[in-house]
Amino acid sequence: MRAPSLSSDPASRLPAVDRVLRHANTLPLIERHGRLPATEAVRAALADLRAAKAVADEAGVAALAGRRLAAEMAPSQRRVFNLTGTVLHTNLGRAVLAREALEASDSVLGAPSNLEYVVEKGARGERDDHVRGWLRKLTGAEDAVIVNNNAAAVVLVLNTLALGKEVPVSRGELIEIGGAFRMPDIMARAGCALVEIGTTNRTHLRDYEGAIGERTAMLMKVHPSNYAVVGFTNVVPEKEIATLARSKGLPFVNDLGSGQLVDLERWGLPHEPTVREAIEQGADLVTFSGDKLLGGPQCGIVVGKTALVRQLAKNPLKRALRLDKGRLAALEATLRLYADPDRLPEKLPTLRLLTRATADIEALAKRLLPAVSAALANRASVTVEPCRSQIGSGSLPVDRLASVALSLTPVGKVSGGAVDKLAAAFRALPVPVIGRIEDGALKLDLRCLEDESGFIAQLASLQ
Ligand SMILES: *Cc1c(COP(=O)(O)O)cnc(C)c1O
Repeated sequence: MRAPSLSSDPASRLPAVDRVLRHANTLPLIERHGRLPATEAVRAALADLRAAKAVADEAGVAALAGRRLAAEMAPSQRRVFNLTGTVLHTNLGRAVLAREALEASDSVLGAPSNLEYVVEKGARGERDDHVRGWLRKLTGAEDAVIVNNNAAAVVLVLNTLALGKEVPVSRGELIEIGGAFRMPDIMARAGCALVEIGTTNRTHLRDYEGAIGERTAMLMKVHPSNYAVVGFTNVVPEKEIATLARSKGLPFVNDLGSGQLVDLERWGLPHEPTVREAIEQGADLVTFSGDKLLGGPQCGIVVGKTALVRQLAKNPLKRALRLDKGRLAALEATLRLYADPDRLPEKLPTLRLLTRATADIEALAKRLLPAVSAALANRASVTVEPCRSQIGSGSLPVDRLASVALSLTPVGKVSGGAVDKLAAAFRALPVPVIGRIEDGALKLDLRCLEDESGFIAQLASLQ
């Protein structure tokens, strides 16, 4: 045993690493996280103390190391409560998967699977075969190919059919979706030349006709997912573009973006074109996302004419853009749910949240009100207020869904930034609660709150 040093230098009064590692309070850390991470954390804690010219005994250093380890080993990506009012929030991961989809991906991720193997024949197969039949049935298209996301689907189509060639697109459809996806940039990167036609608000069939030349590869329509052009406008009906494309021997491609498989009007939601409609309107290829209104995993789906789809599948880029087995299984399970549309709102979280009755959300708000008010006593007043949710992720940009929010307004000595602090306190909860700030209040739109007891349980941790 070393005698306690009487030196005035605090660093020399810190315990040695191995003494801390042998201390009773360090053993659980080693047990939980492993010897190497625990040793590193102890060293780092000692270095911090030395830098701060502070003193601590073995237990004190162990406590510091424990805090470091907890922060370091905490998962970076974790659950949050999405109370933003945007159901398909890209920053919060878009669609929440159905239980069936989670189970399907789990079962193939934890074991070998027949991903590219035909069990009956004992021969090599194609991964997209697992969903091709479902997509044919649900969209009326001849064939399908699956990639990482819809941006990849658009890149694959352009690169396959229009490399070194021209693609006329209406100026009203040169979209930007969330930062990096800008149609003109994507076209350039896919190796094709964009030919802008028409104007922002009006494009006519003659604009398409005038743009077609020797180097034209295809005609393309891009669904205006996240905005609407209103007023004095003209959009050429898809059927007319399709007829023109056919007469010139060119493929007609429709980037639908969200592209759902059933008409949402059936559940009282606004109409958004379905993939089947796009095919019926004459598109030779339709591209859409798996994790927008479809409610599945992130992926990009291209459906359409077999000859074109085969060309896409043969492009070496397909190999770079292909979907992994877990998401492919989740997609297959999600598509299977569509076989029974009657039970879709009950099974598919995206549709369940979108079709949630306002009265149901209001009842939830009233149940939560006392607990939230109590947790915020003296800090904020809480009221139940009507609000409007949006679908998000470039779906139905203009339409809003009637919903109900808890509106939290700071009270007392209100300084500037009080509402930001309130929002930060909710984000600091064990399962962060993400709301939106509006009119000086923090609004918690309850449309997407399903784990009511989990939400209430953690209010006690509110700082
Ligand atoms: C969302 C969207 C995309 C991009 O799809 P991701 O799945 O996000 O890659 C492309 N085109 C349109 C029209 C869209 O709405």
